Amino acid sequence: MGINNRPLSAAAFKRAQQVIPGGVNSPVRALRSVGTTPLFIERANRAYVTDIDGNTFIDFCMSWGVFILGHNNPAVSRRAIEAIQRGSSYGIPTENETLLAERVRDAFPSMERLRFVNSGTEATMSAIRVARGFTGRDTLVKFEGNYHGHADHLLVSAGSAVANISTASSAGVPDDFTRHTVCLPYNDVAALQRYFSEHGNHVAAVILEPVACNMGVVVPTEEFLNAVRLLTSQYGAVLIFDEVITGFRLAYGGAQQRFGITPDMTTVGKIVGGGYPAAAFGGRADIMALLAPDGPVYQAGTLSGNPVAMAAGLATLHQLATSGFYDRLEARSSQFIAELQQIIRDKDIQLNHFGSMFTLFFNPDPVRNFTDARRSNQERFTRYFQRMLAHGIYVSPSQFEGNFISECHTDDILEYVLKSIKESIA
Ligand SMILES: *Cc1c(COP(=O)(O)O)cnc(C)c1O
Repeated sequence: MGINNRPLSAAAFKRAQQVIPGGVNSPVRALRSVGTTPLFIERANRAYVTDIDGNTFIDFCMSWGVFILGHNNPAVSRRAIEAIQRGSSYGIPTENETLLAERVRDAFPSMERLRFVNSGTEATMSAIRVARGFTGRDTLVKFEGNYHGHADHLLVSAGSAVANISTASSAGVPDDFTRHTVCLPYNDVAALQRYFSEHGNHVAAVILEPVACNMGVVVPTEEFLNAVRLLTSQYGAVLIFDEVITGFRLAYGGAQQRFGITPDMTTVGKIVGGGYPAAAFGGRADIMALLAPDGPVYQAGTLSGNPVAMAAGLATLHQLATSGFYDRLEARSSQFIAELQQIIRDKDIQLNHFGSMFTLFFNPDPVRNFTDARRSNQERFTRYFQRMLAHGIYVSPSQFEGNFISECHTDDILEYVLKSIKESIA
């Protein structure tokens, strides 16, 4: 096992670079900011990924939080295969779309109506369009370091892989396209109040990660979440919780269940498709009524509600809804976090965590927003990442991402991981 023995991955990467920009289909996978080159994966099972060189790693990326049940969950894979054998797409409705929508609504009662799309990017983009249609206003408020996919007008001070790019935004996005996007600091109640008192009547929507995960895990203060809810209600703006990561992760009903706050609209993704391309946006019935064909807001998708993804989503949610699932995951996670907290004491490292997600920031000071997160030491993180890889552990390759504990991360695995972290940061 280990980083130094990956000749096949190195060759595969070289070949990929000749045809795919950077050799990858999503920038963070290139592992450039951690000074190495990608593993090319051959297979994954439970808590493990195996590369084409035959190295097996304990995985903490878990396809960016998708696999809360572990890779290749038997029931999910079986349902997906059965769906494929019935034909993998029709462009004509299926009953499973309704069944999964009902399950999502059971988990998120605030999503009175919802529609499936293929990615989190599409979900947030569509939610914002509906919110603008509903309010007849243009301004969108987002928060620094929150990532909502790569739609043009959302690439303003975004987290995730965008956080490693020196410009706050992206080339190729006309200034005109971001003119209606206002970016405020996360966890800053005063800044939010100030903005709303001057411009609140123009705000169509406020979108946020109710627990931020794309600048590393950053937990909101209760005061901040309450202020967001209060001000949007007061000024008639639509509050959108982007629960693409937190939905079905922090609880069956996501962050909104944990905090007891009801947004007007919600996006979910990652877990809901069971490892296949699916996401959803939804919310109050009166807002969602604006969507075509009932209303004037257009939104569509060739593969939306894809039968394979619906089957995998149903099989996933069915298991998550089993009583005690989240209690078990939470108990295992909090024990791991408590032990990790001991290990990093006096090491100038911040451990941010919520439920089964966590980030280690190589930073002597608390991380409460994007400014804090960006002060973290990249060289120390790079050494840590490479040492963990040498221990056979694939942690998320950036301090601007989360690590994800799944049902398959057993006590034995977590114990080995703790030992490895201890050695890696020594
Ligand atoms: C991953 C993510 C997205 C984007 O989803 P894609 O499926 O990658 O387009 C949007 N919002 C949040 C909070 C995410 O974590």
